[in-house]
Order: sequence, then C-alpha cells, then structure tokens
Amino acid sequence: MKIESHLAQIGSQKEPVTGAVSFPIYNATAFRHPKLGQSTGFDYTRTKNPTRAVLEEAAAELECGDAAFACSSGMAALQTVFAYFSQGDHLIVSLDLYGGTYRLLEQIMTRFGITASYVDTNDIDGMSEKLTPHTKAILVETPTNPLMMITDLERVSAWAKSRGLLVIVDNTLLTPFLQRPIELGADIVIHSATKYLGGHNDVLAGLIISKGEELSAKLAFLHNSIGSVLGPQDSWLLMRGMKTLALRMERHEYNATALANWLMEHPAIEDVYYPALKHHPGHDIQNRQSSGNTGIFSFRLKDARYVEPILRHIKLIAFAESLGGVESLMTYPAIQTHADIPEEIRKAIGVDDRLLRFSVGIEHVDDLIADLGQAIEEARLEIEQS
Ligand SMILES: *Cc1c(COP(=O)(O)O)cnc(C)c1O
Repeated sequence: MKIESHLAQIGSQKEPVTGAVSFPIYNATAFRHPKLGQSTGFDYTRTKNPTRAVLEEAAAELECGDAAFACSSGMAALQTVFAYFSQGDHLIVSLDLYGGTYRLLEQIMTRFGITASYVDTNDIDGMSEKLTPHTKAILVETPTNPLMMITDLERVSAWAKSRGLLVIVDNTLLTPFLQRPIELGADIVIHSATKYLGGHNDVLAGLIISKGEELSAKLAFLHNSIGSVLGPQDSWLLMRGMKTLALRMERHEYNATALANWLMEHPAIEDVYYPALKHHPGHDIQNRQSSGNTGIFSFRLKDARYVEPILRHIKLIAFAESLGGVESLMTYPAIQTHADIPEEIRKAIGVDDRLLRFSVGIEHVDDLIADLGQAIEEARLEIEQS
C-alpha cells in the first residue's frame, strides 16, 4: 500500500467494537485489571494509552521504524532521546541547528555532563576531527532551518556506523511523506509534529521513531520514566492532521517552488535558499534521498532596511514563528527562532539581518505572490522617501 493510503487510513480500522472510522479519544488514565496478574494491555496512561498507541503505531509504520513514542512537544522528544546518554558522553551535531535544540544542549544537557560539537555534517573530515573516545551519536537536521542545507544521510550514516555512533535525524521539515531517514541508515528519527504532521498550527506534539528492539526498549523505558508523553486529546488531533499530510505537502511544495522562483527574479532579493532550485548546493542530494521538497525556504534581501517594512506590510502572510501549517507564516530568524544561537555561529551559517524565512502555506499561490509583492513594493517606497 502507498503512503497516501496509510496516511488517510490512520486509526480508521482499529476500533472493532463499534467500527468507528475515527478512532476514539480515551481520556482514562487508569484501566481495570481483569484479575490479579492480568492486564488488558493498558494499565496507566503514562505507560500506554489506546489513542496514543494508535498514533504511535502509525508513526512507526510511516517512518519504517520498529517503535514510536508520542511526546508532548518536539523538545520533549529531543530531551527524551538525550536522556539516553550519560554523563561524559559527547555528540556531533549539525551546525545549522534548530535554536531550541541548541539551547537544550548548551544550557541544560551540558549541566548533566553531555556535550556537543557543531559541524557541517557534509564535511566528513571536519566531523572526524571532532570525534572523541566519548562520542556516542550524531544528530542531523536535513534540510536545516533556516538555510536549508542538505546532508547526505546515507553517507553520514555509513561514516557514523563504522565508528559505532548512533544516527539521530530530525525529520521535521520533510516528514515521512517525503523522506524516511531510517531507510537511509538512521537509528532514531525525531519530529516536531507541531509542524507539518499536525499541519494546522493548533497542536503541540513530538515524535520519536526508533529502529531496533534494544534501542526501542530503552526509549520506551525513558518515555515512561520521564513522562514526556502526549495526551490523548492531542494524540487524536495529531492523527486527524496527519490524514491529509500527503495533500498538504504536495501543495506546500508547489506553492513554495513557485514563490522561490518568483523571488529569484525580484530585484530586491539577493538569493533564495530552497533545495528545489537548481543552484542550491544540496539540490542533487535532496532529489536522490527524498521524493520532494518541503514548503519552507529562506531568502536574503539586498538591503536590511527592507526587513521591518516587509514584516509590517504583509497581510495574508502572518509575521509569526513556527512553520509547517496550512497558513503562511514569515519569520525573522536572527531575532526570533535563532536568538539563542551565539552571533558568531549565526553569522558563520549565514543567519544575518537580511534573512527572512517563509513557511509557505496552502493558500492560492497567486494571492501569496501578490501579498509579498505589495509588501516589498511598500518597503521600497518607504525607503525611497526616507
Ligand atoms: C519546532 C522544531 C523543534 C521543536 O519542536 P516543538 O514542537 O516546538 O517543541 C525541533 N526541531 C525542529 C526542526 C523544529 O522545527
């Protein structure tokens, strides 16, 4: 069966008693035991909840993993995975990293003696230089946010495996509809399901998907022990969102490609960072390892003075953080999503004061082009008059 069919059918054949096509929300936190030493398979909701279990089963299948763990946020998923490591352990991590992940590693995990080195994950020599006897894993984002750098997952996984490292991939931006890192060698996939999987800017959630029995058992223990679990209502909302993932991703890609091409021709724009564009350095790898492109790109203005008026004049496109929802959102990474990353790292990866990130929604592309066009024009007029 194709992935579109799996997605549309999430949970629809899992309720045998009534035949409910939409799987019920089980709010119960406690479950009656038939008798001493017996269980229905459900004891206490932190450990296992029927609604969450249907979501987790679907997530494991979609990402080609053996198990999945639904968490209260993407950060909760990352924290749960980081709890797998011990004092003294060292991680190799993508340089151009989600700001919240960087903050969790640098301001919290370091206090527990877990450290990280930030590298370009396409630079195998650079990564090898950072290896220590205590290096346990590599954490990769591809594409990265906001500069959309692509990592060759097969190449990095092969390198990591030969050194006994665990491969962890944050697959938030592409989702299993477009890229399945476990098939390319990853051991653990992480999602901020708040983004494309949920898809409607209305549910905060995270997912961990793992390959291998031993690893999955350890993660199950951590998930239950820490209690970083997703509630049944939010589990249901997430499944409801995921049913339309295929349709949404196709429209996101279509719109983003049209907008990126339009911006490339615009005189106020210096460059557009989107792997679907031929001049993007990760274009070929992206085409090889995934079946399409995400709906996010960044663009750099020639003149930083455009930023403030553009963000003030966009009407249909909202000036807001987050990404991956049906509504178009634009953000200013240097002072928002990436504020916690030190300026020198920000500059080194190209997150400067002329860069805007666009999470392209599923509105009609003509309306999005018209909105951004008028905002850039208003900005030009204001600058000219000042
Ligand atoms: C948003 C995001 C996170 C954090 O997820 P939350 O659901 O906001 O906790 C982690 N990684 C990436 C790539 C993200 O975009």
